[in-house]
Amino acid sequence: MPLLYATVLVNLVGLHVATGGEELVLISPVSFLTAVLAWRMIVWLFFQRDCDDLDVIAAQLVKMVVLTVLVCVGFSIWTQVLISKHPGETMSILLFSILAALGAAYGLSSFPRAAILPLAILGLPMATRLMFMKDATSTGIGISLLLVLLLLMRLLHTHSRALSALVTGRLAIAKEHNRAISAEVAALKRADEDALTGLANRAKLFREMQRNMMQGPTSGGGSVVAISDLDGFKAANDAFGHAAGDAILEAFALRLLGAFGDNAIVARTGGDEFAIFWRNGLAKQDIAKIGRTICDLASTPIEWEGKSLNIGASCGLAEAGPISSSVSEFVRQADSALYRAKASGRGVWRLYDQEMHALDKRRAGLEKMLLDRKAQMEMTVHFQPIICLASNTVVSSEALARWNSDELGVIPPSEFISVAEQLGIIEELNEALLRKAVNAVRPWPPELRLSFNLSAIQISLEGAAARMLDLLEEDGFSPGSIQFEVTETAFLADMAKAKRELQKLREAGCIIALDDFGAGHASVSYLRDLVFDVVKLDGSLTTNIQYCERSRRILLGLIELCHASGAKCVAEHVETEEQLALIRAMGCDFAQGYHLGRPESGMTILAMNPGRTALSSTEAKILNPIAMLPISKI
Ligand code: C2E
Ligand code: CA
Ligand code: CA
Repeated sequence: MPLLYATVLVNLVGLHVATGGEELVLISPVSFLTAVLAWRMIVWLFFQRDCDDLDVIAAQLVKMVVLTVLVCVGFSIWTQVLISKHPGETMSILLFSILAALGAAYGLSSFPRAAILPLAILGLPMATRLMFMKDATSTGIGISLLLVLLLLMRLLHTHSRALSALVTGRLAIAKEHNRAISAEVAALKRADEDALTGLANRAKLFREMQRNMMQGPTSGGGSVVAISDLDGFKAANDAFGHAAGDAILEAFALRLLGAFGDNAIVARTGGDEFAIFWRNGLAKQDIAKIGRTICDLASTPIEWEGKSLNIGASCGLAEAGPISSSVSEFVRQADSALYRAKASGRGVWRLYDQEMHALDKRRAGLEKMLLDRKAQMEMTVHFQPIICLASNTVVSSEALARWNSDELGVIPPSEFISVAEQLGIIEELNEALLRKAVNAVRPWPPELRLSFNLSAIQISLEGAAARMLDLLEEDGFSPGSIQFEVTETAFLADMAKAKRELQKLREAGCIIALDDFGAGHASVSYLRDLVFDVVKLDGSLTTNIQYCERSRRILLGLIELCHASGAKCVAEHVETEEQLALIRAMGCDFAQGYHLGRPESGMTILAMNPGRTALSSTEAKILNPIAMLPISKI
């Protein structure tokens, strides 16, 4: 380009010289054109910048074409003016014009379409004019120049086509490249985004938390995270289908975004679980407000296809502080608070606090000891007598695990059994306990049976019965001397499997008892479809029979139901003499409870039941008919 301007400038000066220097006065179109060209050259040399923007480049090219046309037309007019003023210098003027056109074409050769213009607008007319001049020399030069110009134009035309093919190819490549980049950007966005709600997903949330989590002072005050899951979502999803489920998730996501999107990251972390993260600390009252808001946002019904869908949300919050050392621990704390919120009912929120932390620490310690097998070593088994109401003798004793941990103190079986179930080590733990129980009852007379609790999860495991029978065989314990207690929850997961395993135990001679009947769903179908030798009526059924006639009627009905199914029944939690008298009058077969004996060591039980002697401490009371209410009064 600078060459273009230089050529045109040189030719301007040439014309000026050829015409005796008349044209380059200070204020004239020629001086103006000279100044413009000089300025363009300076701009090109010193201020020109590379540009990648195709639109800007296209605009510049158009501008250049227009400018070229204007300059050429201007040059032609000026040439005409000069010739009319200096007819004697026509040939020189025409030659300079043609040279200017050639120079301009060369300067524009990187844009052939524009380069053709000076040749066509300026060069060709001038050469034609030269050709038609009267003298032979001018005509000869004119024809030669005309041919040169035509050849050049053809060359430029070919070059232009090749160039446009190249540019089109490059553009296609650039377009493809851009498309690939946009696809990659979209894929990256998708990887960070929940497809249904458009909220951030779990990965993105964790990354943001990792980058931005601020730990505050001991009392809290650092970043805050809330984890919320919907109550009743599954039910709505099941009842109205997935489209309704999606509508619920989308609506709740929008509400969360509307309420907190301005200063927090709102994410869907999976299923019906959402999380909101505030980088900066919040005042305690604001946290409480947030907890309430989240629950309230969900409780407003969601309109979907003319139906009003009612759901709710529970929420757990945690504040980053010294007890939340990492993002995963921070989130775990919010999860733990959510778990507790859910345990307290629907639409409840909880903020993780020191008390929860202490409980979680205990739970973690408990899990560790169970997994290390240290717990199993520390555990012992106690036995609680079960009395036959007809003979007033202890006929069996229920093995109850006891754990007095060096580190954690006394832990009730209801707690550690469920933890072992969740850890998936219940079978191993129960086998260790069965071994301990079998060893402890070895000195017992054969008629005193061992009653052992099976975990609901354990009995649903393939081959559980065979493993238990192998264990008894290894320890030389007769299967006929053992009663296995199983709760109805065992049948909820996989009825067929539990039934098969129990059947195997039964066939080997073990007695099978249904435990805690009447506490849960108390489905009578279990009594109909499965064979139980014994049914243990849940302790809650005995609790207030001495005060409440309705309770007595229910218990009586259940005892008769058990008998109708062909099973004997045990009343649990017999705590008073009056209760004992009542269940006896109702025809119950066995009784168990603190009134008849608390869980004791194996040797104590043996001492309580030397041979077939009745329990001396309770016998008199049991046999006293005054304590027994007439059945008609029940
Ligand atoms: P469960 O099978 O219903 O055991 C009876 C529970 O009632 C025992 O609680 C016993 O101490 C308690 N109990 C007995 N008589 C009375 C009474 O008169 N009043 C009251 N209020 N309670 C009474 P424990 O020992 O805390 O056991 C709780 C549960 O833990 C058991 O309920 C059983 O499901 C489970 N469990 C205990 N030991 C084992 C075990 O070795 N293996 C398995 N799988 N579960 C066990
Ligand atoms: Ca039991
Ligand atoms: Ca029980």
